[in-house]
Amino acid sequence: MRTAYQYKLRPTKQQAEEIDRWLSMLCAQYNYLLASRFDWYEQNRCPLNACPLVCHIPELRENPDYYSQKKTLPNLKKTHPHYGDIHSQVLQDVVKRVKVTFDRFLSGDSNGKRSGRPRFKSRDRYRTFTYPQMKDDCIKGSVICLPKLGDIKLILHRPIPDGFKVKTASVTKKADGYYVTLSLEDPTVPSVKPDINPDSMTGIDLGLKEFLTTSTGETVEIPQHYRKSQKRLRVIQKRVSRRKKGSKRRQKAVRQLGKQHKKVADKRKDFHFKTAKQLLSKYDVVAHEDLNVKGLSKSRLAKSVHDAGWSSFLSILSNKAENAGLLVVAVNPKNTSQDCSSCGVKVPKKLHERWHSCQCGCSLGRDHNAAINIKNRAVGHSVLKAQRLRAQ
Ligand SMILES: [Zn+2]
Repeated sequence: MRTAYQYKLRPTKQQAEEIDRWLSMLCAQYNYLLASRFDWYEQNRCPLNACPLVCHIPELRENPDYYSQKKTLPNLKKTHPHYGDIHSQVLQDVVKRVKVTFDRFLSGDSNGKRSGRPRFKSRDRYRTFTYPQMKDDCIKGSVICLPKLGDIKLILHRPIPDGFKVKTASVTKKADGYYVTLSLEDPTVPSVKPDINPDSMTGIDLGLKEFLTTSTGETVEIPQHYRKSQKRLRVIQKRVSRRKKGSKRRQKAVRQLGKQHKKVADKRKDFHFKTAKQLLSKYDVVAHEDLNVKGLSKSRLAKSVHDAGWSSFLSILSNKAENAGLLVVAVNPKNTSQDCSSCGVKVPKKLHERWHSCQCGCSLGRDHNAAINIKNRAVGHSVLKAQRLRAQ
């Protein structure tokens, strides 16, 4: 199991200066590596439909990749000896960062979502560096030992939980000081507890009218106070747009708007936490629709416009489940609301049709029907199968 804790650092003036110096050197190196990637890309790419029959073949140069760029580092330390002050793994991590951004630009992330062209970073936008390997005993009392930076004081506002080991550390400069984010791992905690009950399972259908409907037909409403604070948000938004640009009164309204945004976000988060807790106290396994599946049907797409809250709810839900050793399963969302949950026949309905009635006699609320389908799709999950075998 992996988790991340962030602590505020209290570096001495000298240490803070050294961190700033590292950041500016790493930023320069990041931009340099990115430039050499672009350079190759511009020289060598040739989209097929735009290639003239007779074309100049540029001198073939080796494509800079992760490994070849990594090999340039020792030379960099020779020509620019001050780079030797930076911990070597921190420097190598910059190469990795360039690789990740560039790969995402060319071929997209794990969901196939491509990012835009990577940007060169200005010095004040480059704020983080990472130690990819940390020693387990790097924290002693309220001091953390960061290689080559030395012992830096930190505010240990909560202890590192028992059994967890520090894997990586990232130092970040923020508006109000320096922070360190530790990625922690406990290999002994199994992601799913061994005595999980595969039959204590529910499916949930996320909706617009009700926040969610379970496969037993229970519903969770979006709380009134949340809706109210959203309405108030709209009122303030209008107020901002009505007032004259640059005026004091507009500035005041903008401040109000910021506060209201935070209020809405806090209320939503609180509601999500409570709902997740409720579900997981009742069930060992919760199935939901995978929101990241490509090619959603039209009605789904119409729904997903409103999903702003759904993905954050689902991430809270799966986090909570993981901590408790329970299971949250994402299933394929295709036709969950169209198929009949009792006989499997497709019963087409438009988005406004709220009732599912099938020739087989099955008659249910639309979301209730979908939730049962979602539950049924999760039954074949490998962890649950293994659990059933063990129980036999
Ligand atoms: Zn049916």
